[in-house]
Amino acid sequence: MGTTLLPGGAGKYVLVVDPACPRCQEPFTAPHMLLHCQNHKAQRDHLEAALNSHGLVLNLSNVLDPNGAARGPVFSALAKYRLDC
Ligand SMILES: [Zn+2]
Repeated sequence: MGTTLLPGGAGKYVLVVDPACPRCQEPFTAPHMLLHCQNHKAQRDHLEAALNSHGLVLNLSNVLDPNGAARGPVFSALAKYRLDC
């Protein structure tokens, strides 16, 4: 996965963007937000349950791949995750 528009990606190139997670100050990257930030654990548990119900594990490929797992109920769980975080 390349650079994202999340502050941890864009913040490296745009000086006015704080690249740190506003909740824990770790670099605010897609892996941090989707897989590691402890402040989103409750929401992530719902997303992981949606993936697991389709025989998938929680990883970036399964969450972000538009041609793969990130569709249907998993996409709905991802959208809810983004809204709740
Ligand atoms: Zn964080």
